[in-house]
Amino acid sequence: GSTLGVLGGGQLGRMFAHSAQRHGYRVHCWAQDVDEPAVRASDVRSIAPFGDEAARERFAASADAVTVEFENVPAATLRKLAGFSPPRPVRPGADVLAVAQDRRREKTAAANAGFATAPWREVSTKEQATAAPTIARPAILKTARDGYDGKGQVRLGDGDDLLAAWESLGGVPCVLEGRVEFALELSAIAARWPDGTVRVHGPFENDHVNGVLDLTLFPARVDPVVTAEAIRIAAGMAEALNAVGLLTVELFLTPAGDLVVNELAPRPHNSGHVTIEACGVSQFDQQVRVTAGLPPGDPSPRSAGAMANLLGDLWPASRGETGEPDWAGMLHDFPDVALHLYGKDDAKPGRKMGHLTATAGDPEAAARRVLAARERLTASA
Ligand code: ATP
Ligand code: MG
Ligand code: MG
Repeated sequence: GSTLGVLGGGQLGRMFAHSAQRHGYRVHCWAQDVDEPAVRASDVRSIAPFGDEAARERFAASADAVTVEFENVPAATLRKLAGFSPPRPVRPGADVLAVAQDRRREKTAAANAGFATAPWREVSTKEQATAAPTIARPAILKTARDGYDGKGQVRLGDGDDLLAAWESLGGVPCVLEGRVEFALELSAIAARWPDGTVRVHGPFENDHVNGVLDLTLFPARVDPVVTAEAIRIAAGMAEALNAVGLLTVELFLTPAGDLVVNELAPRPHNSGHVTIEACGVSQFDQQVRVTAGLPPGDPSPRSAGAMANLLGDLWPASRGETGEPDWAGMLHDFPDVALHLYGKDDAKPGRKMGHLTATAGDPEAAARRVLAARERLTASA
């Protein structure tokens, strides 16, 4: 049988591995730490920094095709994997990752493809941090690279000093972007094949708390025109980047009904977890298909659904106590809710430990179920 290689050891890699195995593949996971969710779920493991050349040779020799579950894999590593003899399909490739790793390139690519972004400018030097203001407040300063779950960001109001904010982020390359007054946040996940065929999961409607995804409703409760436009943008970005593989687009929907590109992720997305239960072919199944050179699956919803994240805050350990959330009690009271745990041992506040999914006739009904089920996890007996 063939082996699919995944770079990154997080929960996205774990759910990819589950799907790949169900499709008859072995999974070789290259992670930088043995104690990661995808490592245990995989058939073959390499634990080494992504720059390690010996690990790269071993990985390339065993993986027939390669994908990523984490965008900060060095583009050079992906280039060398693609150039292995015989060449390994790397989905998506180094050039797509290089764009998605850097907010400056990401926003430029969106604009070049004809899609709106928040107003922004680069703040990478002291001169840029003290230049005459061109971005209206409120604004957000974000590190150009390496941010996730709202980390590496500073919110700036009227009187706040840009130079101090930039220095607080370590004086690294940043972008200052104007705050978009959005009605809703959406996402859509494109999968694109070498012949240009594109299939899009979504749009998803996403609620964030403290910069971290909390709740997803699917399909997004928006006008069909907005749905079509979100799908067009996701497909259009994948085409513009000539991506082969998965590419997620995060979007803001303005009160006027316009869509603004927030950021890109060259991989499955937390908002797409609901596709496991709500679609015939999930985002992970689609990643397997596009990585392995299989035909596209149908991303259309089978039913409406909702997903609620389970962060470490729910665990007694985050409050200095012992024990686990009341899984059995919740599963008893909510037989329609699906539990997904990522196998992480150390629950810390803000850490993504798992999620809950429900399907129902409409997304609000599904959302009520996952929210009530999540509440039930911490209800005292
Ligand atoms: P992720 O975990 O999705 O990779 P991230 O750390 O890369 O997150 P962003 O997606 O840039 O961060 O921002 C996190 C959240 O903060 C957004 O989903 C949105 O709710 C809010 N946000 C970010 N930028 C803006 C903006 N320009 N205007 C309004 N809200 C914003
Ligand atoms: Mg991000
Ligand atoms: Mg984001």
